[in-house]
Amino acid sequence: MAKSSKKKTKASKKKPQKKAKKKAKKVLITSKSEARKLRSASVHDIWPGERELIEKPERLKYVRKLVKPKGCVFCKAAKRGVSFESLCLYKDDKAMVVLNKYPYNNGHLLVLPVQHNGEMDRLDEDIYLRVTKLLRRASAIVKEAYECEALNVGLNQGSMAGAGIPDHLHFHLIPRWRGDTNFFPLIADTKVVIETLEQSYGRLIPYFEKLKL
Ligand SMILES: [Zn+2]
Repeated sequence: MAKSSKKKTKASKKKPQKKAKKKAKKVLITSKSEARKLRSASVHDIWPGERELIEKPERLKYVRKLVKPKGCVFCKAAKRGVSFESLCLYKDDKAMVVLNKYPYNNGHLLVLPVQHNGEMDRLDEDIYLRVTKLLRRASAIVKEAYECEALNVGLNQGSMAGAGIPDHLHFHLIPRWRGDTNFFPLIADTKVVIETLEQSYGRLIPYFEKLKL
C-alpha cells in the first residue's frame, strides 16, 4: 500500500511537467501545411503586436515622386525669386538657396546654381565658385539658426546617384542632432519632421535677407 501510494504521488507530481513538454512540442513542430502557411504569412501574422504600423498609402505618390510637376521646379523658383511660395530664401545672378519641400530634417536646404544644369563639370567656374561660397555661408546660417550639432552636406549627380531632380544640380544641406533619426527613414522612406515649411522659412529668411556674398 505504502509503495503504490508513493508511486501515485510521484506520477501526480510528474503529470504537469509532461503536459508542459507536450505543449512546447506543439509550438515547435510544424507540419508541412503549417510550414506552407508560414511561408505565405504576412509580417502581421509572424510578429503580431510587435510594433505599431501607420499606413498612409496615399503618401506613396510623393515618396516615389510619381506626381511630377511640369517643368523644372528650381527654374520656376528662380523665376519667381525670393518668396515663401517658391521656397526660395536667397537668390543672386548665379546662385540660390531653396528650402527643400520634402525635408529629411528641419531646415533642410538646397543650394544650387540659377542656371539649369545637371552636371558639375559643365558649370562655368565662376558659377561653381559662387554656389560653393553660398553653400559655406548657408551652412553657417543653418548652424546658427538651428543650433544643430552636425550637418550633412552632399550632392547627388544623376538619378542613379539618387538625385530627385537630376537635370538641375543642387547641394543638400541638412542640420543634424543627436538621436534625430529612427527606423522610419530606414524602412519606409518617411521622415517625421516637427517644424512646418512656414516655420522653417520664417526662421531662416531674416538671416538670408542680410546675406551679402
Ligand atoms: Zn532648372
